[in-house]
Amino acid sequence: MASAARRPERLLLATGNRHKLTEVCEILAPLGISVVAPADIGYAPDVDETADTFEGNAILKAEAGLAATGLPCVADDSGIEARALGWRPGVHSARYAGRHGDDAANNRRLVEELTGIADRFVRYRCAIALAMPGAPVRTWSGIFPGEHIPEPRGVGGFGYDPFVLVPDLGRTVAELTAEEKHARSHRGEALRAMAAWLASA
Ligand code: IMP
Repeated sequence: MASAARRPERLLLATGNRHKLTEVCEILAPLGISVVAPADIGYAPDVDETADTFEGNAILKAEAGLAATGLPCVADDSGIEARALGWRPGVHSARYAGRHGDDAANNRRLVEELTGIADRFVRYRCAIALAMPGAPVRTWSGIFPGEHIPEPRGVGGFGYDPFVLVPDLGRTVAELTAEEKHARSHRGEALRAMAAWLASA
C-alpha cells in the first residue's frame, strides 16, 4: 500500500529557469509536493553542465543543490532532439546557438537546420534527479514526441514550444493549456514517476 514514507516536507528545485520552476510547481502541487525556489533560501544554482547525458547533468545539479543547502533537492535537465539531425541538439538545447538560454537564436538555428528536410520528428526529453541526505541519488525520465514546424504558433510554454506541433491535437505545445502540456510532457511524465516513488512504501 502507498504511504508518504519517503516524502520530504520541502523539496528544493535547483534551477535558475523560471519557466521550469513554474512548470515543476504546477505539476507537483496537485500531487501534494511543495517546491522551494532557490531564491526563497538565497541559493543561486551555478553548475557547469559537463555531462553528456540528461541524467548526468540532472544529477550534477541535484547533488550541488543538496551539498550547498542540506535540503532534499530535485533538478531537471531537458532538451529537444530532432531525428533528422542525429538527435541534436539534445543536451546542448539551451546553448544550441551559442549563448545559454537564447531561445530566439536557438529556435532560428533549429528552423534553419531542418529547412528542406522531410523528417520533422522531434522529441523532448527530461531527466529528473533527486538527491536526499544519506540516500543514493535517483533519476526518472520522460519523453514528449512531436513534429517540428517552420513558423511559430502560440504564446504559451517556453523555449522550443511554438515550433513543436502535437500531431493528434493539431496544435503546437505553445497553444496547449498548461494542464494539457503537463499531462503529456516529458517533465510531467518524469515528475509523476518521481512522485509515485516518493509515495511508495
Ligand atoms: P537545461 O536548462 O540545460 O535543462 O536546458 C533545457 C533547454 O531545453 C531549455 O533552454 C529549453 O530551450 C529546452 N526545453 C526543455 N524543456 C522544454 C519544454 O518543455 N519546452 C520548450 N523547450 C524546452
